[in-house]
Amino acid sequence: MISFQQVGKTYPDGTVAVAATDLTADSGRITVLVGPSGSGKTTLLRMVNRMIDPTSGSILIDGVDVKSKPAPELRRGIGYVIQNAGLFPHRTVLANIMTVPRLLGWSKERAREKSMELLLTVGLEAEHAQRYPYQLSGGQQQRVGVARALVADPPVLLMDEPFSAVDPVVRKDLQTELLRLQSELEKTILFVTHDIDEAILLGDKVAVLNTGGVLEQFDSPSELLAK
Ligand code: ADP
Ligand code: ADP
Repeated sequence: MISFQQVGKTYPDGTVAVAATDLTADSGRITVLVGPSGSGKTTLLRMVNRMIDPTSGSILIDGVDVKSKPAPELRRGIGYVIQNAGLFPHRTVLANIMTVPRLLGWSKERAREKSMELLLTVGLEAEHAQRYPYQLSGGQQQRVGVARALVADPPVLLMDEPFSAVDPVVRKDLQTELLRLQSELEKTILFVTHDIDEAILLGDKVAVLNTGGVLEQFDSPSELLAK
């Protein structure tokens, strides 16, 4: 479980991105942060893996303060997927996915084997392994991004608008794929989107943000639909 306790973030220029926020993301569930641009979604997400540090409050993962570990160690347990996949353009798909296990010190053989497995898990084919990112569609690149985030089997997955840059038909596929994956993997997922329909479709729990903090939390999408 990820627990935000009175978490706030004021940037050095005085912008209050997040005001004292309490939020929990339950283990094995998808918690969606939804809200307009500038409502602090990305800031909240990046405080979990300490790309950004809060100016007040604390964030606990399974009861352990994220500040208590060195960032590299913390990040071993956290997958991260961003909007345009963020793949290394000069590395093949396989090499992109293998980056993470190699950093973790796995043997080349084990890294390759597990990376090939993940490639298939996210709905790509073996023949995609030797391609370069530019030779893939946007939707396929996102799948590689998801494979790379999951290859070391982290319990936590942070997803920042992962499907926002692809067209609606592909987005639908990716959403369906994520729900299928999650039913097997049961990660603790924090998912950021500005799309309320996506929030309702994917969220076991939905937190609605407006400028500077959480406006309302819904323990099920049906509660949100009823509003
Ligand atoms: P969202 O992800 O919901 O679009 P962000 O977390 O990116 O929101 O931003 C929240 C607010 O913080 C916005 O007003 C944004 O302009 C501001 N902000 C984000 N990053 C910085 C930064 N590095 N310095 C100053 N202000 C920032
Ligand atoms: P995204 O919505 O994909 O996070 P943004 O355009 O909001 O993209 O932010 C891109 C980068 O610029 C982020 O690293 C964010 O922290 C930074 N940023 C966003 N708003 C501001 C701001 N007002 N001042 C300084 N940096 C900002």
